[in-house]
Amino acid sequence: MQVLWKCPYADGRYVTERAWEDAILGACPFHPEGGCGLERLGSYARVAPAGARVPRWWCPRQRASISLLPSFLAARMTGTLAEVEAVVAAVEEAGSVSAAVDAVHPPEADDAIGLPCALRSIRRRVRAVRAALVAIGTLLAGRFAGVAPTVTAFGAALGLGFGSVLVTLRGLAERHIGALPTPLGLRARGRG
Ligand SMILES: [Zn+2]
Repeated sequence: MQVLWKCPYADGRYVTERAWEDAILGACPFHPEGGCGLERLGSYARVAPAGARVPRWWCPRQRASISLLPSFLAARMTGTLAEVEAVVAAVEEAGSVSAAVDAVHPPEADDAIGLPCALRSIRRRVRAVRAALVAIGTLLAGRFAGVAPTVTAFGAALGLGFGSVLVTLRGLAERHIGALPTPLGLRARGRG
């Protein structure tokens, strides 16, 4: 399972400081009372940001691994929340996925992935973020009732520009993190 980690570093500094080496899991999420023999299980690499690793533990009683997801990283999706947000914002600004595809995945880029992959990747991000924003609108209805499930609308409601909307929302919805869909929350979805 994944547990959210309020890591003091984001993005580049997370990698240069090798922040995962200093991560501490205060208590086993399955056995908060302790005594289950929780042990450190090293770390695993994320595809992006390059060089980033996620610290992991093992609970022998539950026979399950527990990883600490730094709060700036997307859950079950490549990259950071800010990167996911940039893709969704580009689609909202362009008006459609097809209108945004060249801006998000330039065909002449060194790491061009081809149009079908680019469209699939963008649609997956748009769909997942929309589901998460709909959930936040419900979970935090007192604050976000009537706000459209777009990063543009949530950014306006928060008084924030693009780049920090999703990270901020994750923080505001922290106590619902297990019920919130990925990439913001940690609720596993069948396919996303
Ligand atoms: Zn345990």
